[in-house]
Amino acid sequence: MFKINDNYLRLQGSYLFSTVAKKTNAFMEKNPDRKVIRLGIGDVTQPLAPVIIDTLHKAVEEMGHAETFRGYAPDLGYEFLRKAIAENDYRSRGCEITADEIFVSDGAKSDSGNIQEIFSTDNTIAVCDPVYTVYLDTNVMAGRTGEFDTAAGCFKNVIYMPCLAENNFVPELPGQVPDMIYLCFPNNPTGAAITKERLQEWVDYANKNGSVIIYDAAYEAYITEEDVPHSIYECKGARTCAIELHSFSKNAGFTGLRLGYTVVPKDLMCGDVSLHSLWARRHGTKFNGAPYIVQRAGEAVYSEEGKKQLQEQVAYYQKNAKYIFEHLKSAGYEVYGGVNAPYIWLKAPNGMTSWEFFDFLLEKANVVGTPGSGFGKCGENYFRLTAFGSFENTVEAIKRIEAL
Ligand SMILES: *Cc1c(COP(=O)(O)O)cnc(C)c1O
Repeated sequence: MFKINDNYLRLQGSYLFSTVAKKTNAFMEKNPDRKVIRLGIGDVTQPLAPVIIDTLHKAVEEMGHAETFRGYAPDLGYEFLRKAIAENDYRSRGCEITADEIFVSDGAKSDSGNIQEIFSTDNTIAVCDPVYTVYLDTNVMAGRTGEFDTAAGCFKNVIYMPCLAENNFVPELPGQVPDMIYLCFPNNPTGAAITKERLQEWVDYANKNGSVIIYDAAYEAYITEEDVPHSIYECKGARTCAIELHSFSKNAGFTGLRLGYTVVPKDLMCGDVSLHSLWARRHGTKFNGAPYIVQRAGEAVYSEEGKKQLQEQVAYYQKNAKYIFEHLKSAGYEVYGGVNAPYIWLKAPNGMTSWEFFDFLLEKANVVGTPGSGFGKCGENYFRLTAFGSFENTVEAIKRIEAL
């Protein structure tokens, strides 16, 4: 009789988005005359920029001719894309990352889930609380955590790093040293950013203690403040302790096209084994490349035209974020995030739980957000609103909340 991977049985049901959808649909059925506005989604809504569409059309055309047809892509991704990434995301920011340290993939979700495979299951992990659950769940699947402790609301053998208003949603360096540290800045769900100075402390801590940092930079394009790093490699010593994940989803609207990349510097070693060679082996064995046409579209993100059009697209969402942040703040809400991220993180008023506030907003303002408790214990009493809606809907939703 076969056996299953029973680590999967330890996973906690991810009821967050399904419960949000269920409650929203039930409300809409009961109140068909109300216009419900969704500010809960973590997906972009603006169409792909014109230069991306043109590039896709051209690449599709190439695939229809024997002379320009492309089959399997190179393991690490096409050089034209890796060179554009190395130049624009790294060299231009003074980071020493070369094209052959970049692994092109179908997105940051898969990479953030797969990267743990090259590490021992004996390693202890540290995650922020609240957290993008992929980091945690993929480690549960791999058997790197203990049982879920229902009373405590967390997995055993995981170092949870509380992110609260008191620490500006940037965790303290853990007293118990983790082997693997997951960090995501600017952060989903809190919208918090980390300064270069603070991130340098993490890099120093990791180098000193022999930990590896897995740094998710998916929201880098939303940074507006000078002292906030776009890459962990802006910090000294990061080449020997950090892996960085990037996505084309939030900066260029590729959530449906699928493209991302992971950087594993060649200086990142465990004894005499390079993590670069392990990840190259894993990537080459289990992944057959992002589509040629999508990698061409990725290259266009870094063209002069692409940069201009995408800056406008990101600015559109940033304007929403600013609107939500400022208006809720003047309405007396305790609000965070929004400045370097498309997420606004607010405290539910009058001691309401996250779900009580969800029900209250849905019933009274017909606005849907995401309960913070769904991202971890420390998210309780908080609530996430996203800037990914249309400006008109965002303004209307906030007006309704202001009028409560
Ligand atoms: C949206 C998001 C990503 C991007 O995932 P893709 O698979 O590239 O679409 C990665 N990390 C976080 C924290 C995110 O919110």
